[in-house]
Amino acid sequence: RPRVFSGIQPTAGSFHLGNYLGALRNWITMQDTHDAFYCVVDLHSITVAMDPEELRNNTRYAAAQLLAMGIDPERSTLFVQSHVAEHAQLSWVLECMTGFGEAGRMTQFKDKSSRQEEEHVSVGLFTYPALMAADILLYRTDAVPVGEDQRQHLELSRTLAQRFNSRFGSIFVVPDAHIPQDTAKIFDLQAPGSKMSKSVPSGVVEFMEDPKRSAKKIRSAVTDNEREIRYDPDDKPGISNLLVIYSAMTGRSIAELESDYEGHGYGDLKKNLGEVIVDFVTPFQTRVQEYLDDPVELDKILRRGAERARTTASETLRTVFDRVGFLPPA
Ligand code: ATP
Ligand code: MG
Repeated sequence: RPRVFSGIQPTAGSFHLGNYLGALRNWITMQDTHDAFYCVVDLHSITVAMDPEELRNNTRYAAAQLLAMGIDPERSTLFVQSHVAEHAQLSWVLECMTGFGEAGRMTQFKDKSSRQEEEHVSVGLFTYPALMAADILLYRTDAVPVGEDQRQHLELSRTLAQRFNSRFGSIFVVPDAHIPQDTAKIFDLQAPGSKMSKSVPSGVVEFMEDPKRSAKKIRSAVTDNEREIRYDPDDKPGISNLLVIYSAMTGRSIAELESDYEGHGYGDLKKNLGEVIVDFVTPFQTRVQEYLDDPVELDKILRRGAERARTTASETLRTVFDRVGFLPPA
C-alpha cells in the first residue's frame, strides 16, 4: 500500500471549512487506499507566539476533531508531532540542506512575516518548510493531501528529498502533493480574494462555533451587485466560492446548482447553504464533545499513534544520521 502523510496545526481552536474541503476530506478517504499517518503538528504552532495552556488544549481539541471527522485510529496512525522527537531531529539536517534564499522565497513566510510586527518574526517561521519536509520524508511518504496554499512547501520537500538522495544515496521517497481539483482553495467569506485561514479570522466558517453563527456568516458573505447565480471566479468570486462550497458539501455539480437556482436570489442560495452547514456540523460537534469527555482514552489513542509513528521515524532517522556521517550513538 502506498503511504500517505499529512498534518494540521492546533494553532486556533477550531478547524474550518477550508481545512476540511482542501485537505481533511482527502485524509478520510485515503485511509481506504493508503497506509495513513496523520499528525497534529504542534511544533509548527509555536512558530508564532502561543500560550502554553491554550496550545495543550488546542492539541487535544484538534485530535478530537480529527477523530470526530472520521479518522479511524485503528486504520490510521494518528499522533502528535512533538511526541516523536525524530521530526525535530530530521528537520535540523534538512535545514542545513536548504538555501537561505530558497527558504526566503516561500510565500507563506513572506505573508505571515509581513503580517506581524517585525520584532515578532521568529527564525522558526522561516525554517517551517524544512520541518514540514521532515514530517513528510520521515515516513517515506508517497502522497500528501493538502490545500493549494501548501503546493510550494511540497515542492520544496520534493527538492530536499532529491537533493539528499543524490548527495548521500537514495533514502527518501519523493512525495507527490495530493491537491483537490475543485476545492483546493476555499476563500474567506468576507474577503473572497484571500484564502479562508485559521490565523486571519474574518469570514471563516469554524466547525466548533455555534452553527447558527456559521449560518449567519454565510448569509452575510460578500457577493456582488448582480442577481445572477453563476460560477465565474474572476467576476463573481463571492458567489463562485459559495457555489464551490455548496457543491462540495452536497455532491451536486455546480452546473446543477446554477440551473436549480435560476431565477432565485442570492438570499435563497445563502440560506440553503447555511442549512447544509448546520446539518453537517451539528452531529460533528456532538462527536467531538464525546471524545473530549474522555481525555484518558484520547491521550491513549495519541500515545499508541506516537509509538507506531516512532517505529518508522526512528528507522529513517538512523539511516539519515549514518549517511550524513554522524557516529553511531552505541
Ligand atoms: P494558518 O492560516 O494559520 O496557516 P490554516 O487555516 O492554513 O492556518 P493549517 O493547519 O495551516 O490551517 O492547514 C491545514 C490544511 O488545510 C493544509 O493542508 C492547508 O493546505 C489546508 N487549508 C487551509 N486553508 C485552506 C483553504 N482556505 N482552502 C483549502 N485548503 C486549506
Ligand atoms: Mg496554513
